[in-house]
Amino acid sequence: MTDPLDILHTTFGFSDFRGVQRQVVDRVLGGQNTLAVMPTGAGKSLCYQVPSLALDGTCVVVSPLIALMHDQLRAAEAVGIRAATLTSVDENREETIQRFRAGQLDLLYVAPERASGESFRNLLGQTRLSLFAIDEAHCVSEWGHDFRPDYRLLRPLLDRFGDVPRLALTATADAHTRADILEQLGIPQEGLIVAGFDRPNIRYTIAPRENTTRQILDLLAEQPGPGIVYAQTRAGVEKLAEKLAETGRPVLPYHAGLDPAVRRRNQAAFVASEEMVVVATVAFGMGIDKPDVRFVAHAGLPKSIEAYYQETGRAGRDGDPAVAHLFWGADDFARARQRIGEVEPGRQAGERARLTALGALVETAGCRRRILLRHFGEDAPETCGNCDNCLSPPAAIDASVTAQKFLSAVFRTGMMFGVGYIESVLLGQSSERSLMNGHEQLSVFGIVDGEEAALLKPVARALLLRDALRTNAHGGLEFGPEAKALLKGQAELKLVLPPKRERRAKRGRAV
Ligand code: ADP
Ligand code: ZN
Repeated sequence: MTDPLDILHTTFGFSDFRGVQRQVVDRVLGGQNTLAVMPTGAGKSLCYQVPSLALDGTCVVVSPLIALMHDQLRAAEAVGIRAATLTSVDENREETIQRFRAGQLDLLYVAPERASGESFRNLLGQTRLSLFAIDEAHCVSEWGHDFRPDYRLLRPLLDRFGDVPRLALTATADAHTRADILEQLGIPQEGLIVAGFDRPNIRYTIAPRENTTRQILDLLAEQPGPGIVYAQTRAGVEKLAEKLAETGRPVLPYHAGLDPAVRRRNQAAFVASEEMVVVATVAFGMGIDKPDVRFVAHAGLPKSIEAYYQETGRAGRDGDPAVAHLFWGADDFARARQRIGEVEPGRQAGERARLTALGALVETAGCRRRILLRHFGEDAPETCGNCDNCLSPPAAIDASVTAQKFLSAVFRTGMMFGVGYIESVLLGQSSERSLMNGHEQLSVFGIVDGEEAALLKPVARALLLRDALRTNAHGGLEFGPEAKALLKGQAELKLVLPPKRERRAKRGRAV
């Protein structure tokens, strides 16, 4: 067997393995089943490409996206690996099968739906196999965020060739998903290898949304260099791109509704530019290799902590300082909860856990990085010194009493009014509406004044976020499952107050 380090030098031209690559490669070469959890950009492909050259036989790579597969094929062929894809869109199927049978392939890329078929099983029996590499292995887990039923059919195939080692790879797997992958693919606990997820040069900042455009304009004003702004809808992308372009900074939109040629052009312009801002839906970024992205901003809540990590991870690949800003609103959580109600019952628990984890990340008064790293199963110090909360610790106050007043006003007005009206009742603001409704007689009318008034909006946001309040179809507030414990004093509501005054002062000095 050729020394893997020689292969790394001669075939790939790299001087050393990075991070856990060596550990993974050694296990694979030792014939041990392995799950490698490595962040995007950590070099997962190398973990099976090197063994595919060191071992006799063909390495079969299962990969869920045909487009990505063809990119990987080109990259492998470029360094001289004998590789081919076997998919529904390939025209040279016969030739590929010939080469495979003749033992002339180091790598064979296949889609999961093909891998589970009987004819493919027979084909695999006709030559020597070195390794099964299962890319995007989280797709095997119903708990994961991208479940693909075809992945479930891989197990019989793997077991049929039980003496061929298997290597599962993923960039995104919380503890539960990981355990699931191990079990589903028959990999022992000690076969789990997790790479370091920390991106110390990225500074995380997370703030409630006030006026998204204004907030992102402020960010642009103090942040030079190329950046990506993620918006949630195509219309949102277009609108925001227009607004940001008024600053004179080069700005381009990117979303799936644009002509493919325009998309390609905008992407190429971004990659080449040293100051371009792309406003995009999450479709943007996959497979883009631009090391000097200086900031990533989210104009709304991402899908999960994994998605947030992956999207912000596109900043600062060169190791120089970069920033990630997330602006979220309570309505993001309300919408996400509604969507969860619409997915199949079997997957709701996973979706709910993902949303709760995001809630903890945005709500915390502690270190953001710690929450991220612990989510990926890594230990982390209490403070990182490079996130908003570590740099200027927010004041956390106990707002339980204000929360009780708010909930009680929602209850007493019949659970049908929005945040604004409830606020006006609590503040004792008389109006035709409150008179007509007889709400001025309520004990909660005018019960809040002075400094407490400023807490009402953040309290409403926090109540919505933790599902103590929900918004009905007409925008009225009603109780969620968490309301009771708060009302009874069995749960507390701690509010994190962003150090706003200080921020404004700083900006004032800079002008
Ligand atoms: P992933 O699939 O984990 O996102 P890739 O396999 O695409 O990552 O690798 C990311 C980049 O890192 C590629 O450009 C690859 O050539 C490079 N790379 C991988 N391993 C090494 C290494 N040991 N030394 C230098 N560059 C590496
Ligand atoms: Zn921190």
